[in-house]
Amino acid sequence: MGTLGAFSFFYLRRALASSREHTLQRRVDRLTHFVNDAPQSTTTVPLPVLIHQFSTVIPESDLLRISSLDGRSIYPYKGDIKDFSWPAERCDLPCFSMVKIETKHMRLIQQVITLRGEKVRVTLAGQVDEHYDILRMVRNSYLVSIPLLLVISVIGGLLLANRTLEPIDRMTRAAQTISIRDLRKRLPVPPTGDEVQRFAVAWNELLARLETAVESLTQFTADISHDLRTTLTVMLATAQISMKRERTPSEYQKALQTIMLECEATTQLLDDLLAASRADVEQENIQLCRVPLSEVVEETCTHLQARAEVKQQSVGIGVEADRWVEGNLSLLRRLVTILVDNAIKYTPPSGEISVLLYSEQTNATLEITDTGIGIAAHDIDKIFNRFYRADTSRNRDQGGAGLGLSIAKWIVDAHRGTISAKSDPMNGTSFLVTLPLLAPEAEETL
Ligand code: ADP
Repeated sequence: MGTLGAFSFFYLRRALASSREHTLQRRVDRLTHFVNDAPQSTTTVPLPVLIHQFSTVIPESDLLRISSLDGRSIYPYKGDIKDFSWPAERCDLPCFSMVKIETKHMRLIQQVITLRGEKVRVTLAGQVDEHYDILRMVRNSYLVSIPLLLVISVIGGLLLANRTLEPIDRMTRAAQTISIRDLRKRLPVPPTGDEVQRFAVAWNELLARLETAVESLTQFTADISHDLRTTLTVMLATAQISMKRERTPSEYQKALQTIMLECEATTQLLDDLLAASRADVEQENIQLCRVPLSEVVEETCTHLQARAEVKQQSVGIGVEADRWVEGNLSLLRRLVTILVDNAIKYTPPSGEISVLLYSEQTNATLEITDTGIGIAAHDIDKIFNRFYRADTSRNRDQGGAGLGLSIAKWIVDAHRGTISAKSDPMNGTSFLVTLPLLAPEAEETL
């Protein structure tokens, strides 16, 4: 503002000075025309008289001096003109200078002109005091308004900065109170509709995701600890009871079998954990080859049938022969195992399970249906999430860490397939998996 003020002040001063110079120059030109282009009848009129006639029509009448080049005064020809000292130098071309006459500031033009064929030196002064008044007023208004504007803009800036930063300050204070045990808290969202609001909303969404993840992990840790503890307790108790006294070989065998089953369950749990933790990084590195899906489904079901028989469940298998896919054999076995094992786990004794494999256009469809406890509608979208277990109160006894279906989904995705679930809590659940069938020509080459 200071620079702009100074610039406009000096520009105005220069413009006023130049306008005064133009006016003086025009007067000298007019004087030249007035004398030299005067009618023939005036040739007898003496030059000073003619100049006097001219001087009466210009405001600077008493500030006009004309002299010959040798210094003889031509005008004023009477001594009634206020005297003042003229500058010493003489200019042949128009030149301008500032003089102070009495108390007044004057702009002065000096020039050599030709009047009636004789070269004369003309000097004309014009007042510039009113220009000085204008410049003083402008300068004073700047001196008052610039500091005032400065104060107003500083106060305005501070208020604006405070208003803008205050919500961020509140968010910072709220964020400082949030710890891992307190992830339910959220940042205050200012209703500003700008970046700050979007920032707060994004952070709250992040906190919500963190809260869910931490809740799942806490639940998972509790479940795993419980499972491992139960397994160890069972194994320890079985061993201790067996050791208390001498046992028959068949009793020892039974005890060892119990311990073996517990070990298998624990190994399965640890396998699942390992698979889940690897799923994110290994998607790229899966080895694919030509897999006979029909055989994989049949073998896995036969293997699991023993478990279903224990619960007097019937397993119906309907598999179209010779369906091949491009995939990973052990992962596909695992996929079928997870789904059939879940069906057995979540179906009460004497229930029915059916496993169907058929082809539809370019896809193989695997449909596993049971008459079990079903899944509530609000859970069905979440069962594929890692560590998610629907209605834990109902299925707590069946064990499981909520990892099976997330692994199944990862396997299906890795085979560019789809998986979905339909359930009616009264009638049971049906899982549908589609996998791209191997094209006949590819079957030959692989
Ligand atoms: P879990 O190890 O608990 O079985 P999963 O990821 O395999 O974990 O399954 C997640 C949840 O989905 C289970 O806890 C169960 O509540 C539900 N679920 C899965 N399959 C079935 C099924 N066939 N019938 C009823 N509920 C099922």
